[in-house]
Amino acid sequence: MNMWQAEVRVDLDAIRDNVATLRAGTTAEIMAVVKADGYGHGMVPAARAALAGGATWLGVATLEEALTLRRAGLTEPVLAWLLAPGLALHEGVAADVDLNAGSLAQLDELVTAARRAQRPVRVHLKLDTGLARGGATPADWPALLEAAAKAQADGEAEVVGIWSHFVYADAPGHETVDHQLAVFAEGLATAEQYGIEPRYRHIANSAATLTRPDAHYDLVRPGVAIYGLSPLPSEHPTGLRPAMTARARVTLTKRVPAGQGVSYGHAYHTARETTLALVPLGYGDGVPRHASNVGPVALGGRTRTIAGRVCMDQIVLDCGDDPVAPGDVAILFGPGDDGTPTATDWAEAIGTINYEIVTRFGGPRVPRVYD
Ligand code: PLP
Repeated sequence: MNMWQAEVRVDLDAIRDNVATLRAGTTAEIMAVVKADGYGHGMVPAARAALAGGATWLGVATLEEALTLRRAGLTEPVLAWLLAPGLALHEGVAADVDLNAGSLAQLDELVTAARRAQRPVRVHLKLDTGLARGGATPADWPALLEAAAKAQADGEAEVVGIWSHFVYADAPGHETVDHQLAVFAEGLATAEQYGIEPRYRHIANSAATLTRPDAHYDLVRPGVAIYGLSPLPSEHPTGLRPAMTARARVTLTKRVPAGQGVSYGHAYHTARETTLALVPLGYGDGVPRHASNVGPVALGGRTRTIAGRVCMDQIVLDCGDDPVAPGDVAILFGPGDDGTPTATDWAEAIGTINYEIVTRFGGPRVPRVYD
């Protein structure tokens, strides 16, 4: 017998179906964002599931992530956007990876890489429409366009895309969204003056994909939504299905008296004689330590709050007189359809976002099982 102790289950059909749902709501192509190991779901399996659902592009942050997709045999267009100076970008060019340029220096590096790879680099020029992260400011945009036009004329670059990223699309109606769209439209018009009219204009993340069809342009870049999680406030239903379930089997139960301090620092005390259950998942597995005394866990048909501190390997639940026993399955989060907590419930309980909850569970310690 080889029983599992703790596992992260990933429902790949949910990822496929979520992409199909997004696809049905837009005329744009879909770039499935699979960076950070597919938000903890496994980058390559998540990518394959997203492509099966109708995605035609893959989006990642790092060059290494893009090359990993290529090494896995995925031949679809991939954009990598977070590139420090001095990387082996020619390997990306040779592997047909699309690369981001948001400054003259970045474009220079791409052109150098193209020369080394002896083929034009596929570039997406990034305009900073307000996030103040990657991309050229509107003031620096014309110089970047001029250099890109030259590189294109010289046969060293092909400008495949012009793109940007939202500040606050997860707050529908926020004034920054309209403002960024106006700056983006202006940036596209300026690009035309430089003879740059790329096939792909893209700015929409999950939130804008779900709420702003006017921001879809030619390509949308949903990340969290393909994993079935919503970036939006709860009053916006999405019809998506969470793909990840984190669960573990109780290793031990014990009766303790009223007033028993529980776990490190005795940050929790039992109110009455009770049964404690040990669940073998801790911060070494992805459970945030901030969940001490607040994280919800379903066990024995009820949702309970973690009793005391989250340890490296385990948490404790106070189960009262309920008949819980070693081997019973505790669910930290899942699709939520049976009343068990979701990653969004976890995020709300500890003051973070559902993105962080699932991404944390991507570590190597807990086996990931695909349905
Ligand atoms: N585009 C870029 C540039 C990103 O960095 C991300 C993720 O942070 C996404 C798209 C996807 O965002 P979301 O997961 O909110 O859909």
